[in-house]
Amino acid sequence: MRVDHSTQIDQDVVEAISSLGHAHRLQILLALDTAEREHQKPRQTMSFSELYKEVDIDSTSQFSYHLNQLIDQFITETSDGYRLTYSGNKITRVILSGLYESVVPFDDTEVPGSCIFCDEPALVATVETELFRIRCTSCDAILVTDFIPKSQSRGRTAEEIIDSYGYRIWSMFLQLRGRVCPECFGLIDKDVDVYEQNGKSLYISVNRCRECNYIITLPIEMAVAFHPSVIYWCWRYDLPLLDTPLWEFFEYLTSDVIATEVLDEDPFVANVEITLGDQTLNLKIEGSDSVTLIS
Ligand SMILES: [Zn+2]
Ligand SMILES: [Zn+2]
Repeated sequence: MRVDHSTQIDQDVVEAISSLGHAHRLQILLALDTAEREHQKPRQTMSFSELYKEVDIDSTSQFSYHLNQLIDQFITETSDGYRLTYSGNKITRVILSGLYESVVPFDDTEVPGSCIFCDEPALVATVETELFRIRCTSCDAILVTDFIPKSQSRGRTAEEIIDSYGYRIWSMFLQLRGRVCPECFGLIDKDVDVYEQNGKSLYISVNRCRECNYIITLPIEMAVAFHPSVIYWCWRYDLPLLDTPLWEFFEYLTSDVIATEVLDEDPFVANVEITLGDQTLNLKIEGSDSVTLIS
């Protein structure tokens, strides 16, 4: 049985998070991070006096008090000085990226591709309840939904934000192939399930992280896109598959460029035909992402 992380909060976790609750402590973490970047050296250390100079505080005893709150969890004390721990480094990334800030929405933007459930080319990219979504305006199905951190929207136009999701989804899939959680790098458990909408079924790979409970579901056909024969085949037909966002990939499924025939649900086995020009490539998917070329 899985432990429900949300009901068993260790006191160490509470203390670690509360130890961050002061501006001077965040300044200390950022100063160590700046030193790492300036020296282009991870694990760069700073002496007590170097660090003290970087923090807006008048008393060494107060500075020492705040520094001590971070030691062990976020900062390590070595014979050369102080440096960030792994978690200290992750916290500085969160502060700098503004991950905790609320999302800036953008105007709904039409995107190419077709709805996998109603076949209509009626897709729109939108931000709803702080989530990025690709929605079908014809049947109202939501085809893609994901978090939109502030760092992903800052400095990008709406079109560039949408493009960045295309690449994020493919890179996410690559990590999931190796059972690596894209959020915390924990071990992923995989399963195949059926998603029903508007009377149409879509086979999906369901990926659950054992460590952080993150769940990612993706169409089962994404697995074939990483087979070398498919990448080469599509390249020959001037179709840059891994530069094609998932919602445009859906159009291949609805237009029968990619045709899937499920042979067995448990364990999952399916034949996939990819037809371009007058030629067809036949592949087999077993489980959630094992792909072999048949012909
Ligand atoms: Zn639709
Ligand atoms: Zn995880």
